[in-house]
Amino acid sequence: MSQGTLFVVSAPSGAGKTSLVRELIESLDGLQVSVSHTTRARREGEVNGVNYHFTDVAGFEAMIQQGDFFEYAQVFDHYYGTSRQAVQVLLDAGQDVILEIDWQGARQVREQVKNAVSIFIMPPSLHELENRLASRGTDEHAVIARRMRDAVSEMSHYDEYDYLVVNDDFTTALEELRSLVISQRLTLASMRDRHAPLLAALLSQQASVE
Ligand code: 5GP
Repeated sequence: MSQGTLFVVSAPSGAGKTSLVRELIESLDGLQVSVSHTTRARREGEVNGVNYHFTDVAGFEAMIQQGDFFEYAQVFDHYYGTSRQAVQVLLDAGQDVILEIDWQGARQVREQVKNAVSIFIMPPSLHELENRLASRGTDEHAVIARRMRDAVSEMSHYDEYDYLVVNDDFTTALEELRSLVISQRLTLASMRDRHAPLLAALLSQQASVE
């Protein structure tokens, strides 16, 4: 079976990454999002094993020691990481896999998987980003200012990525993400892998025709 492609998607908080990725995997077959481990507290509405595998610090550090993480990083004072085994199982089954991770994790993935495809999602403006961050349950100026600083720090790494998508209009951004996944499936390397018997059959008469 041919191996799936690994997609890395990063964005500052407030750019709409999670909603875009959710719609993207609903709209395409053979594409799954990897569920990360984290030590941060579960937010209302989040489900263990669906949004994240919620883990305590000791458990996370034990996994680091055992080499269980494909990549991991400390983001906003908490650990976040991708299980090596979970991703490998999906890729080996021919599934394309999306990792929704920060720039530190993206760097680690690029070092290990040369043909990983990385995408950075930007908000349409600072003003819009601030509006989106402000609507997240607190009006406290210091909290919003901290979120803005974190967002700008994440965005400063955009030029390490292969592709850039601006989430101004949700439908357009989704279509752009879909195009990126589909075009990746049509590269010569992917097609050769997936359609080896067809290509062999189509070219089997070559000697007698030439
Ligand atoms: P949140 O706590 O808002 O769900 O996520 C905070 C940040 O952690 C986001 O930038 C997200 O991309 C990043 N993140 C989530 N999971 C992982 C992971 O497995 N590895 C890394 N490196 N970052 C992650």
